[in-house]
Amino acid sequence: MNLEALPKFYSPKSPKLNDETPATGSASLTITDVMAAQGMVQSKAPLGFNLFLAKMGIQDPQPAIDGLTNYAMALDNPVLNKLTESTRLEIVDCLVKFAYADYSRSAASKSECPHCHGKGVIRTMRDVVKHPGVKGVEPTVVHEEVEEICRHCQGKGEVSTACKDCNGRGTAVDRKRSELLGVPVMKLCGRCNGRGFARLPTTLARRNIGSLLPDLTDYQWYSGYGSVINSLVTKCWAEEAWAEKQLHDVTR
Ligand SMILES: [Zn+2]
Ligand SMILES: [Zn+2]
Repeated sequence: MNLEALPKFYSPKSPKLNDETPATGSASLTITDVMAAQGMVQSKAPLGFNLFLAKMGIQDPQPAIDGLTNYAMALDNPVLNKLTESTRLEIVDCLVKFAYADYSRSAASKSECPHCHGKGVIRTMRDVVKHPGVKGVEPTVVHEEVEEICRHCQGKGEVSTACKDCNGRGTAVDRKRSELLGVPVMKLCGRCNGRGFARLPTTLARRNIGSLLPDLTDYQWYSGYGSVINSLVTKCWAEEAWAEKQLHDVTR
């Protein structure tokens, strides 16, 4: 049984389910079997399991966030090491939430627009003409905060997470080899590395960190905070794979 098959056990419509194709008939699992298997996976791979359940919307993300925070606080990163304990906690919290958002968006085809935070509008400062001015009277222009439609999501508040090159399939036609062999040959999509969804741009995280640390340098970003985000995202996938293996082993 795979992790991907778990969410359907939470549907009340299916009292008894079969993960494999019915023809094999070997792995018919009852709810009781699945509950027991889950307990095993939870104890052997807690972080990966918490991450997966949170990603699928089955469980609150807090336990996964806590696990990632502990991991990030224990990292031996020269830039993070220089921070005071309280600043470090604040920064790590920001990095962890970003990494979790990047990891968990793979589960949905749509995610909250990161530019307007799902609101569809952005508040920005603009010169607003209050009075166009007439002969002898200067126009009145006021620099004030206005709401504008978010250009990134066209006001929808959500964006597709599918990779633009492969539309979420993760694979693309390998033109060279297809022509050579005369049959369609697929290859891993180079843009998303076969994941099928686009990564969250880390420039957004940099903006958040920049507001906490105004004199953030390129060096601090790339070898410090940016690198911690990458370690965290990699950790999420590794932990999920580990939980997957545990589940596979107990339900085999
Ligand atoms: Zn938006
Ligand atoms: Zn792709």
